[in-house]
Amino acid sequence: MIGILGGGQLARMLALAAVPLGLRVRTLDPNADSPAGHCAELVVAPYDDPAGLARLAAGCTAVTYEFENVPAAAVERLAGLGVAVRPAAGALAISQDRIPEKDCFNACGLPTAPYRAVDSRADLDAAVAAIGLPGVLKTRRFGYDGKGQKVLRRSEDLDAAWAELGRSPLIYEGFVPFDSECSLIAVRGGDGATAFYPLVENHHRDGILRLSICPGRGTAGLQAEAEAAAGRLLARLDYVGVLAVEFFRVGGRLLGNEMAPRVHNSGHWSIEGAECSQFENHIRAVAGLPLGSTRVRGAAAMVNLIGDFPDLRAVLAEPGVHLHHYGKEPRPGRKIGHLTVVADDHAALLGRLRRLAAVTGLELPGLDG
Ligand code: AMP
Repeated sequence: MIGILGGGQLARMLALAAVPLGLRVRTLDPNADSPAGHCAELVVAPYDDPAGLARLAAGCTAVTYEFENVPAAAVERLAGLGVAVRPAAGALAISQDRIPEKDCFNACGLPTAPYRAVDSRADLDAAVAAIGLPGVLKTRRFGYDGKGQKVLRRSEDLDAAWAELGRSPLIYEGFVPFDSECSLIAVRGGDGATAFYPLVENHHRDGILRLSICPGRGTAGLQAEAEAAAGRLLARLDYVGVLAVEFFRVGGRLLGNEMAPRVHNSGHWSIEGAECSQFENHIRAVAGLPLGSTRVRGAAAMVNLIGDFPDLRAVLAEPGVHLHHYGKEPRPGRKIGHLTVVADDHAALLGRLRRLAAVTGLELPGLDG
């Protein structure tokens, strides 16, 4: 039995990957109708509820999590129950705060944009004086899908940004004029073995990921550098499981932006697009099993379904397209499913994506690049 904190779509896809390995999954989520509950045991309780955590942990080989804002108290409680939490608490703590996260990147030889902690209005002036404009002011913790951040272009922007964000601990970063955004899905097993998927190219709109393409265009020459940096991160954090590292590709280099200590939306294409998906590899890692091959079958893409479903019959009629429905009610801005698109090579993949956009009316940014 594997335990998962959180019962959303990531836990659902982890459960679906665990079953063929002969492993059962139990999730804990405050929501009685959470997506993972359709295919795994579900404990309905708050994340820090001692009785709920004890029920989650009972009989588990290991407990993992599907989101990085897991309360530290929950992880401590699980450790106190004698169950292994993977990835370990240290990696979780670092990824919850953008300052130690970027410190860790730099310590591992992964450069970042210049950054400074901002805890007062005077700190903001000092950070802007040191780093310059434009830049991005972000909350250090609990940011997701581009929330909790403001781009500062002129000195007149500082007051409004401070008024909006100044109640939280902040970070100011130099603005990166990136050529593209990409991510590396890495995995480390309990025995220290590592494996890496090819760099993925990511396209966002309104702060939400819309389209991922693997292998990412323009990334082949950067793969070795990305793997070396991620390998150092995994070793430093004594990491077990899947780690997603997000980068800016700029002027032929990679700058680290952030990491997620879990399976990641930009790796969802791997369910049909790779020999062993990120979900299966995460389960293998936390269960102490050998890792599977990260080889991509040709080229693959992930299209997020956000807010509402397109005509699913039309989607399913398209060759090379696979539907992953999360069992959630449609709601504006909500991720309710994704499509994996697979093809023999990039040219065929882009053709399938353009056709899919035409058939469904889905807007797919990045297809003209
Ligand atoms: P984050 O929450 O750090 O992933 O930021 C959300 C999005 O904002 C990123 O995917 C980028 O598109 C953009 N962004 C964040 N930080 C920077 C930066 N320093 N320079 C340019 N764009 C950024």
